[in-house]
Amino acid sequence: MIKLKGIAVSSGVVIGKAFCIRKEEFVIPKIRINYEDISREIYRLEEALIDTRKEIVTIQEKISKELGFTEAKIFEAHLLVIEDRLLIEDVIKRIKKERVNVEFAFSESIKKYIDILSKLEDDYIRERVVDIEDISKRVLRRLLHHSPSKYELKEKMIIVAHDLSPSETAYLSKSNILGFVTDIGGVTSHTAIIARSLSIPAVVGLEKATTHIKGGETIIVDATQGVVIVEPTSSSLRYYRKKAKEFFKSTKLIHIPKSAKAITLDGREITVSANIEIPEELPLVEKFGAEGIGLYRTEYLFLGKKSLPSEEEQYRAYVNVARRVKPYEVIIRTIDIGGDKFLSRPEVPVEITPFLGSRAIRFCLAKPEIFKIQLRAILRASSERNVKLMFPMISGLEELLLTKKLIRECEEELREEGKSFDEKISIGAMIEVPSAALVADTLAKESNFFSIGTNDLIQYSLAVDRGDEKVAYLYEPAHPGVLKLIKNVIDAGQRNNIWVGMCGEMAGEPIFAFLLLGLGINELSMSPPLIPRIKELIRKVKFSYACEVAKEVINLSTPREIEKKLQEALKNVLKEDFAKIIGV
Ligand code: PEP
Ligand code: MG
Repeated sequence: MIKLKGIAVSSGVVIGKAFCIRKEEFVIPKIRINYEDISREIYRLEEALIDTRKEIVTIQEKISKELGFTEAKIFEAHLLVIEDRLLIEDVIKRIKKERVNVEFAFSESIKKYIDILSKLEDDYIRERVVDIEDISKRVLRRLLHHSPSKYELKEKMIIVAHDLSPSETAYLSKSNILGFVTDIGGVTSHTAIIARSLSIPAVVGLEKATTHIKGGETIIVDATQGVVIVEPTSSSLRYYRKKAKEFFKSTKLIHIPKSAKAITLDGREITVSANIEIPEELPLVEKFGAEGIGLYRTEYLFLGKKSLPSEEEQYRAYVNVARRVKPYEVIIRTIDIGGDKFLSRPEVPVEITPFLGSRAIRFCLAKPEIFKIQLRAILRASSERNVKLMFPMISGLEELLLTKKLIRECEEELREEGKSFDEKISIGAMIEVPSAALVADTLAKESNFFSIGTNDLIQYSLAVDRGDEKVAYLYEPAHPGVLKLIKNVIDAGQRNNIWVGMCGEMAGEPIFAFLLLGLGINELSMSPPLIPRIKELIRKVKFSYACEVAKEVINLSTPREIEKKLQEALKNVLKEDFAKIIGV
């Protein structure tokens, strides 16, 4: 079994056969031409460009009908390339000056074009290189008289490719695509854009997917974690089949107005916000009625990149999210590199136990020169007045104090440079290490809020690797040990007058959301599609009842007893059809 790690860009879990699309290679001949052949070669260029233009317009119309106007707009970048006078003149100049055939001249000019764009700092522009490669293939195919490749999917399969160009995607029969897996690409690559608009699970940037995966073999795509499994064992197949079923169930929607508040029948209100990994998820935040962003993971800016993102690039990303989420707030979490989120750069040490190694805040404090760039970018974005700052993997007071010292240094620098930021920015600690949960009272005195990260808190307190399906049966959110840690954090927050939220996956599970309500949580942050059901659940119960149940549950001895009690308690007060939808 081989486990590949990439970037999840469109959520979901699927198991299926791989359909491999190999990178198309052209052999470009270099032929010396005579002076009298120059006009013929230029004519061939013009003809190829006109025909390619017609071809693109036809595809654009097809996509527009199938997917809508926004996706069809992708092809405008193609049209701009073949209409670019500078490019065309460069090709003609080569033909005339170097006396070479049009295929060679064209491919050389395109290489220069791509080289310039690849060096630009802007991610979006860099990812447009795929457009240029795609269009150049089309033009070259015409010049070399190749026929366009057509891909026919006769059954439901997972597409595996180095990268997918828009026109390759256009040729695919969408109804038979189970998932997308690519070697390269980022969050704004075409595969990602198309996958999201089709709601097809996709993991990109796996680096060697096409080397490891053979056409026709069964693979698992877990696009909730950015994982692809090749040659799966029967136990991992069993585990992921269950996970796929659960994911499917969780996407069944409950329709309540977006503006509906999460208020219990007796008037207790909590905030229900969204977790996002990439800004492309912002439309979902709005669509599902999130009251802000409770966890904005920033690793996507760092993973799968040749160089670290600059302050400017980060600032633009953060300020864009802050503006889009208004009038609500966004909690930006500083990078959580290490563990299962690797950075393929020498700054990151390779460790045998990365989850217990130089991960998250530990890595950042060891590399202040990298960390301060992110802190400055977030602080600058805070001038929008709706940004909060949060740190992952805080294990004790000293880390928090060191982090705050670095913030003060960045603030001082920004003041000197005359750059504005929110002088009263809220600073919060993620509580995801058991020691932090136990010393929550001390940490609360130095924090404006807490957000409990149960994905890690559970793995660290139960000593169960969160990504290892062999021990997945031991990963128990309802373990009394875990619940006692959570209660300790919420109580400490109340004693010290700071709010406490939860951004781990547990927050989006109905029985636990009910328990957390009863324990006194102030905010629950989750994947956007889960929001309506949790809001609706809160609206259908009494706070006093949730408190009563929580008091009883916290003293039970096993996860089984605890889950059973919570299920029963909800069944007692919810109508049968709603209880069924939310799985109780
Ligand atoms: C968590 O640990 O619960 C959490 C939300 O952070 P991540 O899943 O990014 O580690
Ligand atoms: Mg975590």
